Amino acid sequence: MVYELRNVLDEIVSNSFPELKKQKINLKYEKLSEYLFNFGGTMNHYWISVESTLKKASKKLIQGGIAHELCHIVNDMNLSKYMKRNDLKLYKKNSRYRQMDERHNDLQVILRGYGIHLIELIKKCSKENEGLTVEEVKTLLKR
Ligand SMILES: [Zn+2]
Repeated sequence: MVYELRNVLDEIVSNSFPELKKQKINLKYEKLSEYLFNFGGTMNHYWISVESTLKKASKKLIQGGIAHELCHIVNDMNLSKYMKRNDLKLYKKNSRYRQMDERHNDLQVILRGYGIHLIELIKKCSKENEGLTVEEVKTLLKR
C-alpha cells in the first residue's frame, strides 16, 4: 500500500471540502457486505468505512470513494434532525429515493473535482450501483 487512508482523506478535505476542515471523521477498513464504502455518525463524530478487500486498490479509486462519502456527510450535516429521520427512512425503504440521492451525490463529487476518481469507483461497483454510470460521468466531465 503506497498511501494511508488518513492522508488521502486529509488531502481531499484540504483541496475540496473546506467546510469539513474542523470536522472529526474517523476512517477504517472493515468487512462490508453490501458496499465498498459506507459512512455514519453525527455532527460530533462521523466515520467512513472502507471495504477491507480494497487495501490494495488504486489511490484513485479510494479518492473517488472517500470523496463520495464526504459528499454524503456534507449533505447529512445540512439536514435538520427532522429531515434526517425522513431521509434515513426513505433511503432504506424507497429505491427511487435512494437512486435519486446517489445520483445527486455523484453530481456533487463531480463538482468537487473528483469525477475522474469517481469513474474508478463506479467501475468497481456491482451492477446494482444506484448512482451515475461511467458513461454519464464521462459526458458530464466534457466541458
Ligand atoms: Zn453513496
